[in-house]
Amino acid sequence: MFPSDHWRLGLWMGVGLLNACLLGGCTRPAVVPPPTSAPSSLPSAPTYVPTPAVPSPPPPISDVTYQNPWKPQSEPRDWKYIVLHHTATDSGSVESIHESHLQNKDKSGKPWLGIGYHFVIGNGEGMGDGEIEPTFRWKEQMHGAHAGASDPEYNQRGIGICLVGNFEEKPPTSAQLSAVKTLVQTLKSEYRISSGGIIGHRDVRETECPGKLFPMESVLSDRSGGSFADVNPAAAGTPATSLAERDRSTSR
Ligand SMILES: [Zn+2]
Repeated sequence: MFPSDHWRLGLWMGVGLLNACLLGGCTRPAVVPPPTSAPSSLPSAPTYVPTPAVPSPPPPISDVTYQNPWKPQSEPRDWKYIVLHHTATDSGSVESIHESHLQNKDKSGKPWLGIGYHFVIGNGEGMGDGEIEPTFRWKEQMHGAHAGASDPEYNQRGIGICLVGNFEEKPPTSAQLSAVKTLVQTLKSEYRISSGGIIGHRDVRETECPGKLFPMESVLSDRSGGSFADVNPAAAGTPATSLAERDRSTSR
């Protein structure tokens, strides 16, 4: 066999593979029988990958959209709520809030372990605008210290997200809004949190938090926050339409 025969064989196999792809949609490996004239001692076929004449079909949706960049190493807690907060300050970061919360004490007088939230979203003053940073409580899947002591359930099973800013005075930046929508939708789908479980701090204790200019409606009704739930309702366990209806029914 001449070296050029290897090339011809490779081309023949490549065309066979291409045809199998075109006909079968590349859903299963193409089986190409070896030519009968090929000697059994033929070395393994040269690798020849044909350039497809048509674009490959996209991989299954779940492979490309099921992304949770905040997946913790630890076993996840049994989350039921997402509680939204603002810092009520113009600037801040995970570090600055951590330092501040270290000064706090719980009911029994024990100092807090540090920052009480699970996530902080920056506004460009102290942290990047729209930057999402998980805290040690998220990484270690610990309870929060953010919702008040009236009902421990919200700290035990509530993911605390705090946006830097005072939303009594001005709304979140557009980057923050986009970030909080993505984060909320991702966590909601990943941990099967109902729309009714997404609440503002003021829903569980006497406070203005997260501020009258925080667009809770927009966050609750978002369908374009970059979440896989938007295109793969099965991942959320509930059809998208009924989620939308529930959003409206829980309007505040
Ligand atoms: Zn709050």
